[in-house]
Amino acid sequence: MRYTNKNNLPAPIFGAIANRQKPQIPKADMYATSLIDSPQIKRLKIEHEDEIEEDVSNMIWALIGQCTHEILEKSAIFDAAWEQGLIMVEKPFVADYGEHKVGAIIDHYYKGIHSDYKTTSVWSVIHDKGDYVKQLNVGSDILIRNGFEVKKHQNVLILRDWNKNEASRNEDYPQSQIFVKEQPLWDKVTRERYIIDRLEKHFGSNKQMDCTETERWYTGDKWAVMHNDQKKAKRVLDTKEDAEAWVDNFLGDKDKLKIIKRVGENRRCENYCSVKDFCPQYRSMK
Ligand code: SF4
Repeated sequence: MRYTNKNNLPAPIFGAIANRQKPQIPKADMYATSLIDSPQIKRLKIEHEDEIEEDVSNMIWALIGQCTHEILEKSAIFDAAWEQGLIMVEKPFVADYGEHKVGAIIDHYYKGIHSDYKTTSVWSVIHDKGDYVKQLNVGSDILIRNGFEVKKHQNVLILRDWNKNEASRNEDYPQSQIFVKEQPLWDKVTRERYIIDRLEKHFGSNKQMDCTETERWYTGDKWAVMHNDQKKAKRVLDTKEDAEAWVDNFLGDKDKLKIIKRVGENRRCENYCSVKDFCPQYRSMK
């Protein structure tokens, strides 16, 4: 990976990102974060490792996430249980699944509770896409295969865009900037089946070649109800029928409304995928 600095960020920021030390981790065919993600992205990253460019200005949240992990790791030594060796932090584990080795870095483990830290948007709590559950279950399965008991697992979410006013207005909104969310622990068969299925998609004879809509963060087509005198949509709905029903129920002057189709976007491809320049699927969609 080559780092660029197109926005001329200060040298210490550039250096903190470009010269990050990668943790020493045991060799595995795949780590949990890649296993649950798109096989095509992983493949293209390996094939074009020396050609991929990433601008450091796109990696500020990754830097903040890394800082958070390091501070939390250091804080564990102040816990009395640390002295007794009962706490594990940022520890890599590997387990065998058939001919493949799968790894996971366990952020925190204490007395059967496996925690994974994320610095993320509050929207990831409100619109949970399920990836955190998958990642936790892969990590827990690997822990169990290494002889540890997992009674429960949870995400500790540090919500970077949390809003105090919204929390006081809305009781369904996370009530604190640190939000602990226990996630379902799948049974053994479900965990193993999921991991084997993902390995099949990455390495199997019928491996998955293209990214799915979910992996491309496809928004789907939307239908905007516009008012002739306003630039901003009055409502944006998922289907044309919903938009028509909304107009039918509108109490004002319906003749001034029109429905416009907004074609869906692959948000990840457009703005967040470091391998898009090498991606045949992206080229074919343009
Ligand atoms: S550009 Fe889009 S389709 Fe291609 S690898 Fe990236 S996310 Fe997948």
